[in-house]
Amino acid sequence: MEFPELTVLSRQMAKEIVGKRISEVEVANPKCLNMPLEQFQKTVVGKATRSVENRGKWLFIKLDSDHVLLFNPGMGADVIHFKPGIKLPEKYQIKFILDDKSGFTIRVWWFCYLHLVHANKLGEHKLTARLGVTPLDKRFTLDYFKQLLNKKRGNIKTFLLDQKNLAGIGNVYIQDILFDARLHPNRIISSLTNTEIEALYKSIGSVLNESIELGGLAYEKDFYGNKGGYGVKQFKIAYKPGQPCPTCQTTIQKIKTGSTSSFICPNCQPLDK
Ligand SMILES: [Zn+2]
Repeated sequence: MEFPELTVLSRQMAKEIVGKRISEVEVANPKCLNMPLEQFQKTVVGKATRSVENRGKWLFIKLDSDHVLLFNPGMGADVIHFKPGIKLPEKYQIKFILDDKSGFTIRVWWFCYLHLVHANKLGEHKLTARLGVTPLDKRFTLDYFKQLLNKKRGNIKTFLLDQKNLAGIGNVYIQDILFDARLHPNRIISSLTNTEIEALYKSIGSVLNESIELGGLAYEKDFYGNKGGYGVKQFKIAYKPGQPCPTCQTTIQKIKTGSTSSFICPNCQPLDK
């Protein structure tokens, strides 16, 4: 799950849960909590949800007690809505029941975080306090992006994946974003021209928005259990090694960049300019 999937999820969740009160919560994997289960339940039950937003890989669910529920799906999770009387998914670790008997279950693939933090203490929550703005935030303007890049060392891919710079690009979408902007992942930030930075800024918006409009990745489920429409067909070069580049027909390569893999068209994204 990356930013587009979490954006789709948080918008759908907002529609279904905002204004409703939490009447019951079950957590079968209390290790994901940042407090004892009983204390968590006691604080959360009876509270109404005010808003649902997402930043990076985190959902922020604001409650009317000025507490915020922070959820991170780790390697992945199904967060699925249910209506009263509807059969629940077979497997899940976490269940929230709301005052109208609707709610949602969470099935986690590997691990997750479900933290409860007072709004005043968000700045002390180590895992989220330093998250950058999201690529869809109004504050994320071209000037803001230029400022962010100013005087930064290192290569552009590492920079974009660092959630402290920008909270929202992971190793799936970065491939097509860099391809769309015709930038090699190992390009050094200080070597980027103004035109290249502008192209990159546009690509970030267009690639992420295209996926959000299609409901996110085809192999991730949304709040209603439906899979997204952004799949291999929509990928430009991501995860398509050996296939022809959609622009110039050169064979797409898979290369190692630091600790991650990258897919590039060596013709459209040359390292040396
Ligand atoms: Zn090409």
